[in-house]
Amino acid sequence: MGNTNNEEYYNVSDIFGENVFNDEVMRERLPKKTYQRLKETIRLGAQLDIETADVIAHEMKEWAIEKGATHYSHWFQPLNGITAEKHDSFISAPMSNGKVLMTFSGKELIKGEPDASSFPSGGLRVTFEARGYTTWDCTSPAFVRQDAAGATLCIPTAFCTFTGEALDQKTPLLRSMEALNEQGLRFLRLFGNTTAKRVIPCVGAEQEYFLIDKEMYKARKDLVYTGRTLFGAMPPKGQELEDHYFGAIKERVAAYMRDVNKELWKLGVTAKTQHNEVAPAQHELAPIYEEANVAVDHNQLTMETLKKVANRHNMYCLLNEKPFAGVNGSGKHNNWSVVTDDGVNLFDPGKTVHENKQFLLMLCAVLSAVDKHAELLRESAADIGNDNRLGAAEAPPAIISVYLGAQLSDVLDQLIESGTATHSIKREKMDTGVNVLPDFKKDAMDRNRTSPFAFTGNKFEFRMVGSRDSVGEANIVLNTILAESLADICDYVEASDNKDQAILEITKKLATDHERIVFNGNGYSAEWVQEAERRGLPNIPSMVEAIPALTSEDSVELFERFNVFSKTELESRSEIEYEFYAKRINIEARTMVDIARKQIIPSVMAYTTKLAQSINQVKSATDKANVSTQESILVDVSDNLSVVKEKLDILEGMIPKASDIIETKRRAEFYHDEIIPAMNELRTPVDKLEMLVDKNEWPMPSYGDLLFGL
Ligand code: ADP
Ligand code: MG
Repeated sequence: MGNTNNEEYYNVSDIFGENVFNDEVMRERLPKKTYQRLKETIRLGAQLDIETADVIAHEMKEWAIEKGATHYSHWFQPLNGITAEKHDSFISAPMSNGKVLMTFSGKELIKGEPDASSFPSGGLRVTFEARGYTTWDCTSPAFVRQDAAGATLCIPTAFCTFTGEALDQKTPLLRSMEALNEQGLRFLRLFGNTTAKRVIPCVGAEQEYFLIDKEMYKARKDLVYTGRTLFGAMPPKGQELEDHYFGAIKERVAAYMRDVNKELWKLGVTAKTQHNEVAPAQHELAPIYEEANVAVDHNQLTMETLKKVANRHNMYCLLNEKPFAGVNGSGKHNNWSVVTDDGVNLFDPGKTVHENKQFLLMLCAVLSAVDKHAELLRESAADIGNDNRLGAAEAPPAIISVYLGAQLSDVLDQLIESGTATHSIKREKMDTGVNVLPDFKKDAMDRNRTSPFAFTGNKFEFRMVGSRDSVGEANIVLNTILAESLADICDYVEASDNKDQAILEITKKLATDHERIVFNGNGYSAEWVQEAERRGLPNIPSMVEAIPALTSEDSVELFERFNVFSKTELESRSEIEYEFYAKRINIEARTMVDIARKQIIPSVMAYTTKLAQSINQVKSATDKANVSTQESILVDVSDNLSVVKEKLDILEGMIPKASDIIETKRRAEFYHDEIIPAMNELRTPVDKLEMLVDKNEWPMPSYGDLLFGL
């Protein structure tokens, strides 16, 4: 690579967080009183007074200007899955001498009013009060982003209506964290812990993505309009050799990753591991975990950065969950744990699990939460692209279950049988058989890649989330359902005269009632689908079928009890999701029609004409030549072409019917039940043709070109 000059080598600790208005910068730059006041706000969630905000805003601006910032932006996550921002410059009206001042007030820091009427609100904002407000989230640090637009001070904000209803992912996430904090502290007090002051969910989101060449991307209208391929025959080589997984990273990709890391580190994102994934052209990036709210913001930044840097490297980063049929899709593993402010991980089983009553009850609380709200948790990972991925024998099935591994399952069995656990399976020593390699203790549990919700040592890994989706929703649900479990446990134990006894009772009861959610076997197998059905576990294959879980009686009661969502907010979210679904599938369907009519049919016609001409030429040269092969190809191609035309007309005729349906839910269902099958019917003959037609005549790059093109 040409650009490996010396300044390309640097010490990570020199640049890490250099563009973040983090704790260190604040301590250094803010007056002591202001700093303490802000920390209090962050810690206790108190209101920030305007004088303090003014001082902070001023310092933030000065700091940002030193980094070259000309603009500031309230950075927020509306409900369309991406981040939004509106840029304002710091300049004030010119003074009498014609010069301008750079100003930024506390009011501007705390509150913004983007003209946000076209963000999805699901009916929450009627047109005469279409305003939405952004408010500073001081628990997630501001940062300066440097790119083609110059440098911009980005202020993480929440986005609400005039009356305070949430229009974003952040507001309910913060509310869910508060709920978990409150119930988590109550839970700890049951076990005599009087020192912890906060209980915090932590998240590490592993991000999968595909990288392809930009020119090839541009040559595929389906990728450009929908982010995934809508046609495409399988290449002769797929992922069957598994030679890509953890394989050596290609130089072009390595240079990209290096750039991504540098950008992320400057923004204080702890990009930690990177490797190739299972599918060709697929990769993964994992950060070090952090507080849920910051982790969610950082995952958004990561996705933005992956896209932006790819563009600079003449590549395109596909975040869609299933960009290629028949090839592994991309997900986002949401690693989740709950820790105290003094650093104790409540999901850590400790050395002797069976004696750790607090852990065992916490474990049962999680099992109960996941079992009771499996449908809601499934819904939190619902995304259009994920419909093509979940249950496709390479991603977790659409059935929620929990993997515990041998050791914990054994302890759970003991609890169910006798109410207490007396022993746990020991970790074995791993003997590598080679003297120079150190022997080490095996993890007490194996890995199970097929589980959607796996206990992995001291955290749970929720693997259902889609690669394009925000991890916000999944964590809102996780935090809230655990808060509910803990609240119910505390209600029970606190009401008892004999707390120790009550703890044992409730542990046994929860273990017994919710054991059915535990599954350690192969989640990709067909037997599991049947077994899950016998156990009464829900299997919700599509987004459209998942959305009702948002507004079920159970969910409304759950979220209202912990002030995470009101019923109105839930209804608006469900409306937005149906709407979003219908719109996205509509675009996919229209893109297929467009490609089939304007690219596929003309190319195939040109090919058949050529073929016919060449047959005639051969025939006129000599009538001795046998042209039956050419003729049979011509027949085959023409037959498929007529099927394409027939299916295309059917699909095209259906699209207006869909958009005529007024009720959003019914419209989304129509797209799911009628349009998608019609799209699949059109795809089949087109993919067949791709295998019959001369490659030079095919109007777009093939799967092989895309997947092996870097
Ligand atoms: P694995 O190999 O099991 O997937 P890693 O150690 O590579 O585990 O971690 C995967 C992700 O999980 C990383 O983002 C990591 O920071 C995160 N993680 C590790 N420990 C925790 C924890 N206690 N809570 C939340 N996330 C965690
Ligand atoms: Mg993982």
